[in-house]
Amino acid sequence: MIRNLKEVKDNNFDITRSADEVRNLSFNDHVCLGCGICESTCPVEAITLNAIAVDARHRISNDVYFSGHEKIAQNFKEDFDVQRISIDESKCVLCGMCSGLCPVDALVLTIDDVPIKEIEAYPHYIAFSEIDDDECVYCKRCEIACPRDAIVIDRILPNRADLVTGEIDVDEDECIYCGVCEELCPAEAIIVDHETGKESIVIDKDACVYCLVCKKSCPTNAIKAICRACNYGEYDLNPSDAVVTGNSVIDSELCVYCGWCEGVCPTDAAKVKKPFEGSIEVDDEKCQACGACVDVCQCNALAFPVSAGPGSRMEHVTAFDEFCVRCKACAKACPNGAITVKRTEVDHTPINSTTWKEALDAIKD
Ligand code: SF4
Repeated sequence: MIRNLKEVKDNNFDITRSADEVRNLSFNDHVCLGCGICESTCPVEAITLNAIAVDARHRISNDVYFSGHEKIAQNFKEDFDVQRISIDESKCVLCGMCSGLCPVDALVLTIDDVPIKEIEAYPHYIAFSEIDDDECVYCKRCEIACPRDAIVIDRILPNRADLVTGEIDVDEDECIYCGVCEELCPAEAIIVDHETGKESIVIDKDACVYCLVCKKSCPTNAIKAICRACNYGEYDLNPSDAVVTGNSVIDSELCVYCGWCEGVCPTDAAKVKKPFEGSIEVDDEKCQACGACVDVCQCNALAFPVSAGPGSRMEHVTAFDEFCVRCKACAKACPNGAITVKRTEVDHTPINSTTWKEALDAIKD
């Protein structure tokens, strides 16, 4: 009899079966949203979604509870040894239903080392996130806003000296090494040695921003300012010296297509296509502001409203429909049934198999 072998490492695991073909199901806990699609669609009921949020709420301090962007779920959960899901390897038939329906590839089934999403007979969701480097100005707003820390923006700034319009010089015959300029220089570009007999003053031309504070404050008028712009007209900066270049990278393993990058990008360089369309609503009457939904949401699509002041009670959470990925983890976590998430459209590659069509239809509302 062929049996499944399970290997657990940290919060991840592999289930492997070797027969005519080698099937391997890998689970990556830090990628998992805890949405439970796998649990609800597994044909042999081998998968259990674990109550991470409820467990965690008993074990963390209130500081973590309200920590907003810092509370990306994988950090939030760092100290816990509970996997988001469990799979009973004796029941699992390695059919790949969970892998095909997982919206973030936390479960990946390979057949002879090929992921099923690369095999034409299996479907995969149509979703993407990208940043157009021609439009990007490398402001890093997306990197800061991304709740999954999936974006890295590397930027190369122009040389500051190329953007400065002049140079500062010191007439050492006039300088009395008082150090007033050194103390006032906002760029910390001046170093004065006050030691008697060894006095000196040095101006770092790379650090100087030509603000002229030193010249204006010098009691002996020893500082000379040479304005490059004045000699050549109004402004002699070469525009090419001021260009910021760079590179943007989205980690496809961590990105869940929440759309924060697109939402905050000032130049429309970021584009996101979500796999699911739908809606999220919070019933203000039922919500007790316990925060379980805020804790499990990996998209920062739920938040507490800004407090009205000391002593005021936050009545209920707010849902940002724009940034919700319709995973439903929040609705599952809510002990009061206050959240309704609807998945009205599921965008996926064409599929002929009736079983897969039914499975994809079943995750729609
Ligand atoms: S929606 Fe539910 S889980 Fe979220 S704060 Fe309100 S009661 Fe708690």
